Amino acid sequence: MDYVTLNDGMMMPQLGLGVYQIDDQNVTKQTVMDGLKNGYRLIDTASAYFNEEGVGEGIKASGVARKDIFLTSKLWWQDYAYEDAKKGIDTSLEKLGTDYLDLYLLHQPVGDIFGAWRALEEAQKAGKIRSIGVSNMNSGRLTDLIANSSVVPSINQVEIHPFFQEKDQVEYMKSQNVTPEAWGPLAQGAHDIFNNSILKEIGEKYNKSVAQVVLRWLLQRGVVVIPKSTHEQRLIQNIDVFDFKLSDDDMNKIATLDLNKGVADYSDPDFVNM
Ligand code: NAD
Repeated sequence: MDYVTLNDGMMMPQLGLGVYQIDDQNVTKQTVMDGLKNGYRLIDTASAYFNEEGVGEGIKASGVARKDIFLTSKLWWQDYAYEDAKKGIDTSLEKLGTDYLDLYLLHQPVGDIFGAWRALEEAQKAGKIRSIGVSNMNSGRLTDLIANSSVVPSINQVEIHPFFQEKDQVEYMKSQNVTPEAWGPLAQGAHDIFNNSILKEIGEKYNKSVAQVVLRWLLQRGVVVIPKSTHEQRLIQNIDVFDFKLSDDDMNKIATLDLNKGVADYSDPDFVNM
């Protein structure tokens, strides 16, 4: 496993397990246990996934020490006012059955972002959260938050995959010392990604699957990845990406797949306020 060092000095695994759209607490628990058994040390959940209890149970049942796990959760925008955010943090801690989070993110770039951010800054000082960050912020929003608060977000978790590569956004984040983290790294299966001929052809050279090629491409761009699967064989496959390196030529070929359009559009108020 490779690690990245965040702007606050915290070390974060560069690859982890996302648990979006796993509603059942028992399936969540089993998936987290399977992930930890197979070497995952980063788990990414959110209050809006309604499975923090399952994640907490999976961690406890895994036998892996809490200190060896990097646990991320997120605050939903309806809890963004300062007092609500403080409650939201405590609720996440309680549901996860832990007394600290490694990383807590503002999930959406809407609502009282500054009130919520102050609550996160205070929770970080109090030791309840080690690193604080944001999600789905474009460069303008990020600039505004950095300019008007005392802690620079350690992470910005945004949609990034071969069909939505976000080259400028990633470079901007790096220039601000904000680590980019990709959600939907496998494009949530869209655009028939697993049958893409360019990705398949590259995979054949290294004896790797399309998923492994895509995750490797993101790692080599300096992005943290959190692919999701509930199938143990896929979990094993998705973490098996540290024994090969894509050539510059492969990286350039993947660069040609960019459609510059994601599944999420944060400039659309109807989408953001869902
Ligand atoms: P993803 O790109 O990780 O795709 C997941 C899907 O890909 C799975 O359901 C499975 O069908 C398939 N898959 C996974 N591994 C595979 C393999 N090896 N072979 C074939 N198919 C495979 O999509 P995601 O779950 O949306 O994103 C990953 C994580 O990012 C989420 O679980 C969540 O933690 C986070 N996320 C965050 C936000 C946000 O707004 N911050 C939004 C979406 C997701």
